[in-house]
Amino acid sequence: MNMKVNRYNYPSQFGDELQSLLNVIGDDLVNGHYILTEAVESFETAFANYIGATCCVGTNSGTDALILALLALGIGPGDEVITQANTFYATVAAICFVGATPILVDAEPHAYLMDVGQVEPAITARTKAIIAVHLFGKCMPMTRLLALAEKYQLRVIEDAAQSHGARIDGRAAGHFGDIGCYSFHPSKNLAAAGDAGAIVTDDRHLAEQIKILRALGQSGQNRHVALGMNSKLDAIQARVLSAKLGRLDHWNDQRRAVAAHYISRLDGLPLSFQAPAEHQDHVYHLFQVRTEQRDALLAHLQSSGIDAVIRYPTPIHVQEAFAAFGWTAGDFPVAQALAAQTLCLPLRPDMNIDEVDLVCDCVRAFFRERS
Ligand SMILES: *Cc1c(COP(=O)(O)O)cnc(C)c1O
Repeated sequence: MNMKVNRYNYPSQFGDELQSLLNVIGDDLVNGHYILTEAVESFETAFANYIGATCCVGTNSGTDALILALLALGIGPGDEVITQANTFYATVAAICFVGATPILVDAEPHAYLMDVGQVEPAITARTKAIIAVHLFGKCMPMTRLLALAEKYQLRVIEDAAQSHGARIDGRAAGHFGDIGCYSFHPSKNLAAAGDAGAIVTDDRHLAEQIKILRALGQSGQNRHVALGMNSKLDAIQARVLSAKLGRLDHWNDQRRAVAAHYISRLDGLPLSFQAPAEHQDHVYHLFQVRTEQRDALLAHLQSSGIDAVIRYPTPIHVQEAFAAFGWTAGDFPVAQALAAQTLCLPLRPDMNIDEVDLVCDCVRAFFRERS
């Protein structure tokens, strides 16, 4: 269907820089500059600087970034890793791929993030790490989580796939724990032209370890010192990401402006929003609204040409892939309720006020017809 308000606008992400980007990619193509080139290193340096971290290692995807982070921390069979029930599949799949056991805690009903109060009771002698997910572009309360991690000697991995550039008191999401993981999937705030990801860390030794693990376990050519994956950031994707990185903060500002407009224009309706927090910059990867009439509202928006979607309709604990863990529908009631009651309104940095108003008018009309 032809949408009036879309979720993505890729031409706007390239702007005037498309031709120069195509020129450098063209040079790479004819020169055979494909694997772990200077372009990859230069993006890694730029992204580390952007986050404020010492090291960045580019990977093939955000999922692989999580797997590599767990492997580098030596987490595997017999270990437990705590994360939240209302995350994207990849956070939990990564834990399973290294052979560790995911331990879920429920979401907090206002922040739509992990309920930190439930973490301590979930810690056992086997717990090795916590994966904190800065979901929808909002930072987890990291001070509380880091204090718990210190008390129990746990590692902290941040899944920052939805929160490039989100900050708490100036410190970037992904730069609080041991390792921060990012995705540059085309849907994310910083988008590659395909799959791509990265980790950041201040620990040079861990970064070196991840460089070995992403490149077939090699410490030098044909010297395989560890059981590694093949998961390097692609050189062409590094070019695309470098061309966009300089505008990410501006785009995040624009995202916040669109979100603020939504919140003020939707005031007074039977809708709630992901709670804002003080001293932090939410980067609104997704703009969630919550209502008991979610399915009807979604149908109304979509039939009016508004590209609204549900993220995520089926929570982790009832996904077939994780059936072996024996979780049942009632285990995580907040995650279950969020999955049933939230939807995402389209939010793009380049969205103009008329588009935002059109979406808001459509939401208002829906509730007017029903009152
Ligand atoms: C997108 C995403 C991932 C996975 O990233 P890919 O690059 O698609 O592998 C992991 N966690 C969260 C929260 C995500 O949104």
